Amino acid sequence: VIKSFLLAPGPTPVPPEVLAAMALPVIHHRTPQFAAVLAEAEEGLRELFGTSQDVLILAASGTGAMEGAVTNVLSPGDEVLVVNGGKFGERWTRICQAYGLRVHEVVVEWGRPVAPQMVATALDEYPATRAVFVQASETSTCALHPVPAVAELTRRRDALLVVDGITAVGVLELPMDRLGIDVLVTGSQKALMLPPGLAFVALSERAWAAAERARLPRFYFDFRRERKGVAERSTAWTPAISLVQGLRVALAMLRAEGLPNVWARHERLACATRAAAAALGLRLLAPEAPSPAATAVLLPADVDGSALFRYLRDRMRVTFAGGQDRLKGKIIRIAHLGYADAFDVVTAVAALELALDCFGVPVELGRGVGAAERVLAGGLPPRS
Ligand SMILES: *Cc1c(COP(=O)(O)O)cnc(C)c1O
Repeated sequence: VIKSFLLAPGPTPVPPEVLAAMALPVIHHRTPQFAAVLAEAEEGLRELFGTSQDVLILAASGTGAMEGAVTNVLSPGDEVLVVNGGKFGERWTRICQAYGLRVHEVVVEWGRPVAPQMVATALDEYPATRAVFVQASETSTCALHPVPAVAELTRRRDALLVVDGITAVGVLELPMDRLGIDVLVTGSQKALMLPPGLAFVALSERAWAAAERARLPRFYFDFRRERKGVAERSTAWTPAISLVQGLRVALAMLRAEGLPNVWARHERLACATRAAAAALGLRLLAPEAPSPAATAVLLPADVDGSALFRYLRDRMRVTFAGGQDRLKGKIIRIAHLGYADAFDVVTAVAALELALDCFGVPVELGRGVGAAERVLAGGLPPRS
């Protein structure tokens, strides 16, 4: 096998147009040329976030923006509420604890979406809660949390809603301003079709007000300083210039496709993947609210899932993601976000069928692919 396929929920494949833009000579960042690149990127990011606020561009992986989201709006000893339904929910808790915040958790069974009622109950129980932290798409379980319903609760209270949109922004509609999200975070290596290295964050009016009062220590990720940069078509520190050059092109590609089409594409690829899983008799980890970014399928109990994952990655050269912690060896996560299209799903399903067959699982080859194709056929362009 000579060809490799990257089908994990981050990092995701990067389109050739974006790779080419990143290969251009590095220009200086305090120049009119780079200011123009930033201006164009800023416009595309606002559209993507559904906000009229500034979207800050940070040189960091997604976790950097998560940490900045915590340190910019809170003060030592503040009470916060974290929706913890997987590895990334757990990350909110660990960041908040690292900064000495008082964390209350709404613990959600892995693979399930949070019930908004549980958040409402917790907010009643802890009325001093300053902020609620949640993932829009909990990538470790491939479940979607109901952000609009949670936003209904926080916008009526004096609690900020901080959303990790890292496998949601650019995958599904998540209009920050309209929903009343106070802080929205994403990263470059998921739906934005870029390599890792950039993180993005936007703050609502009331989150900016909180940023003025917040007393947690911050320096590199001081959002007030970055915001000043945006106004001046600049950045506080040396930006990841080549990645920003790529960002401009990636955003232009998304705009050319049209965001509603981008969301519909993700939904279609997810539906096709789920149909394939069902046809193969594989259950989903998150059947109730499956994420359109990636699909987690439970492997038959008698299959060594870690060995299957490694076989796919090292011998077939198809890289999915496995399960973490208690899900290790039990699931395969098939990504269909970012630079992903119908034939990526066909490849993913074909590889999974072949690997299962190789591991002695009784599968009818082509059965999953056929089911996926029947869904994908609905998304084909017209004949003429
Ligand atoms: C990928 C991801 C992250 C970010 O991780 P980094 O490795 O720091 O980029 C955070 N949250 C979610 C939901 C993710 O999918």
